[in-house]
Amino acid sequence: NTMLYKLEKNEQGFYAGLLLPDGTSRIIAAHYCIMASGGIGRVYQYTTNSAIATGDGITQAFMLGARVKHLSRIQFHPTAFAAENDRERFLISEAVRGEGAVLLNCDGERFAFKYDERGELAPRDVVSNAIMLESQAKGNEKFYLDITHKDPDFVRQRFPMIYEKCLEENIDITKQWIPVFPCQHYLMGGIDVDLFARTTVDRLYAAGECSHTGVHGANRLASNSLLEALVFSRRAANDITEKLKKEDNTSFGDFTEQEDLSGHPLPHGYRTEIRKIMQECYFVIPKPELIPDNIRRVKEILTDLTGGEYAIDQNFVEAQSLATVACIVLEEVQKKYDAQ
Ligand SMILES: Cc1cc2nc3c(=O)[nH]c(=O)nc-3n(C[C@H](O)[C@H](O)[C@H](O)COP(=O)(O)OP(=O)(O)OC[C@H]3O[C@@H](n4cnc5c(N)ncnc54)[C@H](O)[C@@H]3O)c2cc1C
Repeated sequence: NTMLYKLEKNEQGFYAGLLLPDGTSRIIAAHYCIMASGGIGRVYQYTTNSAIATGDGITQAFMLGARVKHLSRIQFHPTAFAAENDRERFLISEAVRGEGAVLLNCDGERFAFKYDERGELAPRDVVSNAIMLESQAKGNEKFYLDITHKDPDFVRQRFPMIYEKCLEENIDITKQWIPVFPCQHYLMGGIDVDLFARTTVDRLYAAGECSHTGVHGANRLASNSLLEALVFSRRAANDITEKLKKEDNTSFGDFTEQEDLSGHPLPHGYRTEIRKIMQECYFVIPKPELIPDNIRRVKEILTDLTGGEYAIDQNFVEAQSLATVACIVLEEVQKKYDAQ
């Protein structure tokens, strides 16, 4: 319930500005800092990520000068439940296709083999790509997973949670096709770290989805991210412990523990606009022709956020993070296309 709104640094370590649950704020000092703030899913309209995934830690590290790498390496899961309104979507996991579920287009036709010889069992990026290309070909975004040909008892026992979740959405997966569509799922890039989770900023570490360790390449294999988070956070903790043993960490001395965070209320709509931009410009298949104008627009938003003397609260922090992250991602994508 405590939110980081800023991170500043001197030679001894960091001053972290925190928003507290009771509406007050506080600045604390620390000789070392580990960012473990998760991904950026909320920069998209549709994601499996929870509401906290706004890229706050990546933004704060970037603003401190840390190298951020491959932020455009974003994994889109091919088969999230296509709820009409929910921003956070739940997954219909690969295992359902593994057990024989087939992907159908809006006309009820199987199409995955048109795009890859592995059909429904191709890797995530390939299946997501196939759905987007088929959607363009058909001019329709309705897609389904069909597992109704399997024994209903087997389906209920093998996928109890998916069965229950779909039932809550009025879909009985033993009898009905499951509406699915790709959605943002995971970030392979992030704050660049070495094998000890050290960023390019002295005393700053990063672990978990906010970090770029390089172990996932451009396309994470399912289930490797928790392993990565555990290994690199342990390495960070060990590295810091060793350093603390050798250092004579003097106190930070006096510093202001609170600052005035009041200001103008944030205008409505910035976060929604950024999500729309990202969804249109870079969702599975990038649209390079839309990117330059939208980079300009995101930069306008960032400039306003920086100079607008807005109240520093959760809305402001998240808007600033989404704008920063969107800008880095779109600029990276544009560079790739310029290089081609
Ligand atoms: C539906 C789903 C299924 C998945 N399945 C798997 C799987 O089977 N296997 C696997 O390996 N991976 C899986 N993943 C990926 C994996 O869950 C995530 O990569 C992992 O949980 C990320 O952990 P993390 O600690 O880096 O970030 P998170 O777990 O997202 O934690 C980040 C924390 O930082 C806090 N935070 C963020 N911003 C601030 C701020 N400004 N101030 C203070 N605190 C802040 C948040 O509140 C949160 O507590 C799945 C992901 C999803 C969404």
